[in-house]
Amino acid sequence: MEFDMCPRCNSNKVTEGQSDLEHKFTGRTIKATYRHIQCDACGSRLYPAAGQPQTVALELARGGPVAPDTFRWLRMSLAIPAPRLLTLLGISKADLVAWETGRAQIPVAVWVTVAALVEDQLEGRSHTLARLESLQPRSETAAPAPG
Ligand SMILES: [Zn+2]
Repeated sequence: MEFDMCPRCNSNKVTEGQSDLEHKFTGRTIKATYRHIQCDACGSRLYPAAGQPQTVALELARGGPVAPDTFRWLRMSLAIPAPRLLTLLGISKADLVAWETGRAQIPVAVWVTVAALVEDQLEGRSHTLARLESLQPRSETAAPAPG
């Protein structure tokens, strides 16, 4: 366990517990059970990052729906930084913002690709990422090798 003392009030009257949280998305609610630490002294409830369920991202990746909020959740679940993801997918930041704010419809193919990256990551694979990397278009204006 990460805490044997409350990081807010330093009390050692902490107990472990579980809580069910509901995540509401467009057309869908996903419930996940989270471990927490409850402080009996100050009443704080803390959710340690390590060991939390990946249920939400995995269920979204497998079942959708294609929507701005599900897309954003999936993207944020990825260990891939946003600038790199944009390059890999060949999309602009403006596209991403428009899709995540609902100003433009997300192409299903893009959503599914991001979902595949999430599913790979959670299952310890990397073949979608490897394919994206190997299929990157070669830049015609690439800088010459140094030397
Ligand atoms: Zn406390």
